[in-house]
Amino acid sequence: MQTAGRFAPSPSGRIHLGNILCCLLAWLSARQQGGRVVLRIEDLDTARCPRRYADQMVEDLQWLGLDWDEGPGAGGPSGPYYQSQRTPLYQAALEKLAAMGLVYPCFCTRAELHAASAPHRGDGQAVYAGTCRDLTAEQIAEKAKSRPPALRLRVPGETWGFTDGHMGPYRENLARDCGDFLLRRSDGMFAYQLAVVVDDAAMGVTEVVRGADLLDSTPRQLYLYDLLGLPAPSFIHFPLLLAPDGRRLSKRDADAGLDTLRDRATAAEILGKLAYLAGFNPSAAPRTAEGLLADFAWDKVPRADLRIPEGLF
Ligand code: GLU
Repeated sequence: MQTAGRFAPSPSGRIHLGNILCCLLAWLSARQQGGRVVLRIEDLDTARCPRRYADQMVEDLQWLGLDWDEGPGAGGPSGPYYQSQRTPLYQAALEKLAAMGLVYPCFCTRAELHAASAPHRGDGQAVYAGTCRDLTAEQIAEKAKSRPPALRLRVPGETWGFTDGHMGPYRENLARDCGDFLLRRSDGMFAYQLAVVVDDAAMGVTEVVRGADLLDSTPRQLYLYDLLGLPAPSFIHFPLLLAPDGRRLSKRDADAGLDTLRDRATAAEILGKLAYLAGFNPSAAPRTAEGLLADFAWDKVPRADLRIPEGLF
């Protein structure tokens, strides 16, 4: 089967070096195998991801020389390629899970979730304490009068694991390490975990390349693939890019955003430095994405976080 990789950026701001590294690695990995590339805009949170940010992101990726075969501007058989336009698909998946008796309404407020004395995951998110797991029909009807519920997936105390293409074996006990997780927020917005599974399957994605911050989302996603009877892709997580002071890069880091970088560097300069940091450019010399195909190999990429040296960009 032909490899299909994807970029799935969330356009909540201007693209930054971490997003660019993600797209570069996904592109190189797929293209080196003669695979196709899909661009999907993850704009479920329409308030934080206005269309003009998505348009800018598409333009930035083109400027970087990272192309795609399916997605905005390219069309393709699995569109639309904006998650904000795909809600009927997420609704259908939700109904399938609900028909299996695995979905329940959760009325907990943010403050209640915070106060519940559940253990915290490595990423700082609380494991849901299960407060609304066993509400009776009467309790649900009563609570629904005062607020609309979120919807959660009931998870079993089973261990789900996989072998990451870069980070090696990883597993989690769904109930203990993750807890019943959100499928839809109380305002009706579908959750990333559900949307990403539905979309990667619908778009025929066979290889997911993304940052190690999403490693611990993968067991949840594998569980959803299984429940929905969908073929799961392989997963390759790469180390996070850190700012020179060791913080996680965010869209608020002005220095790492393309808004300022594009004024002082060419696309080849940016890609060459990122590839150098990620171990597959022997120096920080400018390189095109196409030119890097000959040098890229996953075993050259470190597994520990990559700190950007002061003054590199
Ligand atoms: N949209 C997510 C992000 O920008 C990526 C999701 C994924 O690769 O699975 O962080």
